[in-house]
Amino acid sequence: TTSATDLDETTKQLDREYVFHSWSAQASLDPMVIAGGDGTVVWDHAGNRYLDFSSQLVNVNIGHQHPAVVRAIQEQAAVLSTIGPATANLTRGQAAERIVARAGAPFSKVFFTNGGADAIENAIRMARLHTGRDKVLSTYRSYHGNTGAAIVSTGDWRRIPNEYARGHVHFFGPYLYRSEFWSDSPEQESERALHHLERVIQSEGPSGIAAILLESVPGTAGILIPPPGYLAGVRALADKYGIVLILDEVMAGFGRTGRWFAFQGHDVVPDLIAFAKGVNSGYVPVGGVAISEEISATFDERVFPGGLTYSGHPLAAASIIGALDAMESEGIVDNARRVGADAIGPALAELQERHPLVGEVRGEGVFWAIELVADRATREPVAAGVIGQLKKELVTRGLLPFAADNRIHVVPPCVVTDDQVAQAMEIYDEALTAVERA
Ligand code: PLP
Repeated sequence: TTSATDLDETTKQLDREYVFHSWSAQASLDPMVIAGGDGTVVWDHAGNRYLDFSSQLVNVNIGHQHPAVVRAIQEQAAVLSTIGPATANLTRGQAAERIVARAGAPFSKVFFTNGGADAIENAIRMARLHTGRDKVLSTYRSYHGNTGAAIVSTGDWRRIPNEYARGHVHFFGPYLYRSEFWSDSPEQESERALHHLERVIQSEGPSGIAAILLESVPGTAGILIPPPGYLAGVRALADKYGIVLILDEVMAGFGRTGRWFAFQGHDVVPDLIAFAKGVNSGYVPVGGVAISEEISATFDERVFPGGLTYSGHPLAAASIIGALDAMESEGIVDNARRVGADAIGPALAELQERHPLVGEVRGEGVFWAIELVADRATREPVAAGVIGQLKKELVTRGLLPFAADNRIHVVPPCVVTDDQVAQAMEIYDEALTAVERA
């Protein structure tokens, strides 16, 4: 209708005039208008519908507007909408208990934050105070958030204009398709990446290193599932040199890989887990750190010098309970695993066969990357313009994509159905054909 179309126009106009956007030069932005959603589908005011194969910022794991999560927030809002972090609150305690239960031993407590970046900040703070050491090692292919230590831990380009925190060192992790170590098998990549990491530890001075910080599965950097033995090898190095292992599960956690936590498939247990996104699918901003018993005990008699007004906010806590219980009772994590194995994986392999632009497809669960190359032999990434064009072709056909560098990430909510995957694959196929023709 005319009035609905007007609303879309008004939304764009207000956005252009008053809203300052993340990671962007502001002048020439043209964001999509999204007015509503349900499960894997979103729409604008005029009723144009899109399959959300981005899960927004890879955080809406339970899908849009899950009634159990909406209800949990509404009910908590009616009882107690806010309360300070120094109080004891039933909803907060129940949310923490659920997270600890899914993390398993040796995790015993949860420190709640407002999102992923401050989860990383506080995990780093805990590691530094626990060890009495300073340095933090993380990979170049990583994103850990946009605050002080988190953005300098980040390896990608976003670190460079923000390097104001000290004590950060970077190294290369495994990535067989573009190996830094001339490897030609996953085993070799794992072994050589571990050798490189140990040399970095030795060269930086082990007695000064507080933490190794890794995404269990690097997400925005390309969905780089660690080769067999890598994370267990990192754990062994951390133990050998008395270093705290922090795994960043902000993007990979809570169902994305088809497991509650991504690390649970890798024979490794970290000391600290940073989480956010999928814990409540972003219905209310929240994140946190799951803390091992040993590190938690460091602060039994000693003051933890950190806190936030909204730490353990009751609306966030209620949304966590609502989301985790629904994910459990509806088998949503199992669905992510099954859809990945039965539908997304095979369909992407077929896309790769049909399209010379596709250099590699990789992933698990609802966490997949299509890596686009100008030349399959040299693996030269496609130019940014090609990704821009592909995004347009996808949106035109009703799919909301997630793009990073030379890749499209196939990252729908964990509730995605086989039918929706089939629809999406047809769209990827047609869009790739259109781009290859041009
Ligand atoms: N860590 C990882 C792996 C992420 O993907 C992100 C966000 O994309 C963050 C941390 C930061 O989370 P937030 O944006 O909630 O601060």
